[in-house]
Amino acid sequence: MKYLRMSWLMLDKFNREINYLRISVTDRCNLRCTYCMPSEGIPKKKHMDIISYEDIIKIVRSAVEIGINKIRITGGEPLVRKDIISLIKGIKSVPGVKELVITTNGVLLEKMAEDLKRAGIDRINISLDTLDEKKYKELVRVGEISHVLKGIEKVIEAGFTGTKINMVLIPGFNDNEIEDMKKFCKSKGLSLQRINHYSLHDINSINRKYEAERPLKCSVCNRIRLTSEGKLKPCLFSDIEIPLDKDDPERSLRQAVLSKPRHGSMNNTSGNWEIGG
Ligand code: SAM
Ligand code: SF4
Repeated sequence: MKYLRMSWLMLDKFNREINYLRISVTDRCNLRCTYCMPSEGIPKKKHMDIISYEDIIKIVRSAVEIGINKIRITGGEPLVRKDIISLIKGIKSVPGVKELVITTNGVLLEKMAEDLKRAGIDRINISLDTLDEKKYKELVRVGEISHVLKGIEKVIEAGFTGTKINMVLIPGFNDNEIEDMKKFCKSKGLSLQRINHYSLHDINSINRKYEAERPLKCSVCNRIRLTSEGKLKPCLFSDIEIPLDKDDPERSLRQAVLSKPRHGSMNNTSGNWEIGG
């Protein structure tokens, strides 16, 4: 037997416990971050090519069966997908989901923070790489920092705890802002999650110049991913994709866990916006 399933424990071939599923609910985004998307955006996919809410819920139910207990909703920008609140409520109602979290660029939080709280989101990660209005605009190409800052206030008002600010560290661009960002987070009761910039095409591109919490080291990786097209990705830095068997999602999920490579290498098949980072 190539995997070990002891009630709520799923180990991969290298003895890593896999308990975390990241779901990219859309490839669309209301920003165009230079490190993530082309400036012109990405070709629009047909609705039928994007995974349905019904299928996502099915996968979550099966994921819990194989030992997944943490789910992250990501994207593209998850808050632009229509009726995202109903999906969140649906995932939250699946027994065995212990932690339901979301990563967002924050632009729509001003309007949606309270709804997210009511729907059952446990924690939010908000991506904000700079506090400088001009640099923000330069980085995201479209969009205003004021929306994100107001969104952060709404998240605090809504009573969320454990909120993180995701800051991608870009040499020569925002690396001089780490201390300011730490102070900002401290003043708001948030924590800072520093992410070393990378290109998906080469794991060795991860800029290790700075101390950072992400990307995770392969040896402690505990996650698999579901893309917005409904493929399972065992590793961010790999071309391996497991097509979803809609009649037996549990089998596909197990296959994804067992296909996790010991180390990532390169991913030339999907963009960050499809996998969710
Ligand atoms: N749109 C949402 C957001 O930006 O928070 C969720 C999706 S985004 C792909 C998820 C995370 O991946 C964000 O924190 C983003 O900063 C990070 N990310 C995207 N491209 C990256 C890159 N090339 N290097 C490091 N982090 C990256
Ligand atoms: Fe959109 Fe997030 Fe990618 Fe920025 S990092 S372009 S906000 S998906």
